[in-house]
Order: sequence, then C-alpha cells, then structure tokens
Amino acid sequence: NTDDLSKKDEQYVWHGVKPFNPESTIIAKEAQGAWITDVKGNRFLDAMAGLWCVNTGYGRVELAEVAFDQMKKMAYFPLSQSHIPAIKLAEKLNEWLEDEYVVFYSNSGSEANETAFKIARQYHQQNGESGRHKFISRYRGYHGNSMGALSATGQAQRKYRYEPLTQGFIHVTPPDIYRSPYQGTLEEQSLAAADEIDRVMTWELSETVAGVIMEPFITGGGVIIPHESYLPRVREICDKHQALLIIDEVICGFGRTGAKFAFQHSGIKPDIVTMAKGITSGYLPLAVTAVRKEIYDSFKSSGEYDHFRHVSTFGGNPAACAVALKNMEIYEEEKLIERSKAVGAVLKEKLQDLDSHPYVGHIRGIGLLIGIELVKDKMTKQPADADVVNNIISYCKGKGLIIGKNGDTVAGFNNIIALSPPLNITDDDVDFIVTVLKEAFATI
Ligand code: PMP
Repeated sequence: NTDDLSKKDEQYVWHGVKPFNPESTIIAKEAQGAWITDVKGNRFLDAMAGLWCVNTGYGRVELAEVAFDQMKKMAYFPLSQSHIPAIKLAEKLNEWLEDEYVVFYSNSGSEANETAFKIARQYHQQNGESGRHKFISRYRGYHGNSMGALSATGQAQRKYRYEPLTQGFIHVTPPDIYRSPYQGTLEEQSLAAADEIDRVMTWELSETVAGVIMEPFITGGGVIIPHESYLPRVREICDKHQALLIIDEVICGFGRTGAKFAFQHSGIKPDIVTMAKGITSGYLPLAVTAVRKEIYDSFKSSGEYDHFRHVSTFGGNPAACAVALKNMEIYEEEKLIERSKAVGAVLKEKLQDLDSHPYVGHIRGIGLLIGIELVKDKMTKQPADADVVNNIISYCKGKGLIIGKNGDTVAGFNNIIALSPPLNITDDDVDFIVTVLKEAFATI
C-alpha cells in the first residue's frame, strides 16, 4: 500500500535536507539507466544521478554480481592488514591519476576530506612545522557534513546552527565569474580570485597554513566554472607558501566534467585528491584520500609511518573495492568519460535557446555538470525568487524529470538549476530533458 509507505516514511525516516512535504517525496522502487520508477509506477528521468553519484547509471547487474561474488569469497577484512581488491583498486587509481599516489580508504566524501586534513597537519608536523594547522577554502564550496569537513564548507546555511565548528578554517571569494566582484576578462577575474588566496595566506602568516581545499569546479554551491588559468595559479600560490593543495573530486571526479578527474583539465598536480560518489556510482559506499607518494614517503622516512593514527573500520572493504574496480572498467569500456564531454556539449548547446528567457541569467557547464542561474532582472542580476525556481522544479517533476536546485540561501540566492544526469544517458533522454525544461520555462 503506497499511502501507508508514505505515512511510515513521514513517521520514521529522517531525511535531512528534504523539504518536509510528504506529498512530493518520491519513494523509489527500482531504476534502470537514468530512469527511476516509484512505488506508484511513475517514472522519472533522474537528471541529478541520485546525488551526483550514479555516473555509470542505474541497474548495473554486473556491479551487483561483482559485489555478490566478493561477498561470497570474503565480505570483510580490515585494512590494518590488506586484501586483493584494495590493492588492485589502488593500482588502478594510480593509472587514472597519471602519477604516483598512495590511497587511504574510507566510506564517504566527508571522511575522505577529514582524512586529508589530518594527513596535511601531521605532514607539516613531521617536517618540523607544527604551526601549520589552518586550511583555506572558498565561500559556497561544500566539503561534507562532519565537523572538520563542515568547517571547510563555505555555506553558512549549513553551518550556523552547529557552531562552534573546528578552528582554523578560513574562506575566500569563489571564482564566480557571473557575480564576480573583480573587473576585467574572465581570465583576469579568475586570477584575481586566486590571488586572494595569496593575500590571505600572507596575512594569516604562511607558517600557520597547512593547506588549501577546493573542488576544481564548485558543484553544489552553484556550478562555478572559472577560467582554466585559475587552478594553475592556485597551485603556484600553494607552492610559494608551502601549503598542500587538496583537490576535492567527490562530485567532479569520475567523468562528471568530461575528464577522469577535473583537475586534469588544467594540468596541475594536486598534493591530495579526495574522491567518493562516482568511484562506485553509489553501488556501495567507498571513498578515497589519494596522497602524493612523496608525502606518504615522508611519513615513512620520519620513522612515524605507523603513527598516522587513523582507522576506518569499513573503509576500503573488499566488496566496495571490487565494485569500484569493475565500475572503473565500465567507464573505460563504454567510453563514458568521452561521452560526458560530448553529450554535455550537446545538452548545453540545446539549452542555449533559453538564454533569451527573461529569467535566465547565465547558462554554464563543463561535461555533464551544467548550471542555469535564474534571475529577476538580467541587468541587476538580482536572484529569482524561490518560488520561480521551485515552480520550475515542480513542473519538471510533474512531467517526470528530476533536476537539482543549488546555491546558498544565506548568501541571498538558491537560484541555480543543476543538471548532472548519469553519463550513459541516451540521446533520447537528452531530448527529454531539453523538452521538459523548455516547457517549464514557458510556463513562467
Ligand atoms: N565534497 C563534495 C564536493 C561533495 O559534494 C560532498 C557531498 N555532496 C562531499 C564532499 C561529502 O560527501 P559525503 O556526503 O559522501 O560525505
């Protein structure tokens, strides 16, 4: 009985950010490709890939089989020792990272970032620089729900009820070229935003800074895509101040932006890379903190190798690692990273007509990470009212299309529609997204 399920959901399940509106909650039953079927038999194209997660698509029997086989052989063993899937996956990740990294496994993006902060602080301590404890991140960036990862998050809406958070996290202006406080070309504005990190490090005193954490492209905070010179400049600034550069690829990684990892668009080499979501496409929980070999070696050579006092019971469990490995093969065999780039370009192109709509301020995207920023007035860029954005989302849902809403309510806007479907989305699915979205805009 579906009504009974809705009642029980409301009674027993705490959903976090979900609007407390049981009427509109999808109770999903099964899914295939990009399509979800709910308990009432309604079908929805999931243009958010779950929570930017199901990159290789729903209904992958081969992933279920790998999990089943591994669980039959050995479902669990801790990484205080080792096991075959963990080793094979680490080797495969090295291939994708195109450099030598040593990986630490955990279970969520938040945990992967917490791990990165602890490694960075301890690394500096071992090099005799125990004063280096601060991290710099950007306003509007999201890095997770745990106290450290939330401290790195630059969205006050998610934080203010839980303060005081962890000390030593400092935020700078994101390179939002649509609402940039800087002047000049796209490149000049992006570089000016990067240079703020240089200034802040100097003013904070470099000797107190452990690192910088950022996504290559801010995702949940509103799909922010700076000029390609931004990340190389950030790398230079980190080198100048001897701060570690931690790149959060939790959403951007695994093909979302049309590259294996989004930092690869700019040719930089991060010190630490964090990953989750698309690594298993959500089939099992798994996260990774990949650390440059030299950093890992310094833990060894300092004699402190066994003193990274950090354990994750479930992190890197055999079943999750086996699924991730198989999932990476799927990306390769089906050329899904190339597909993300090509289909993303087509989708963005097909959405261009919307540019002339009075409510559309800015359409932007890279690969299958696409954002549409809604405004009240194109000249002033005043954000569109919440009900305009909500009406579009509701209209789409009514027609069987799930889209995302992003931004920052405290900063005065939550007005960016996000499109991030599975990378194996079909051409017909792309047309469906475009048709429904255009109809939705025609209604406002
Ligand atoms: N980093 C980024 C960029 C994210 O988007 C998220 C989750 N949306 C996280 C970290 C945290 O991941 P998790 O929810 O798995 O803890």
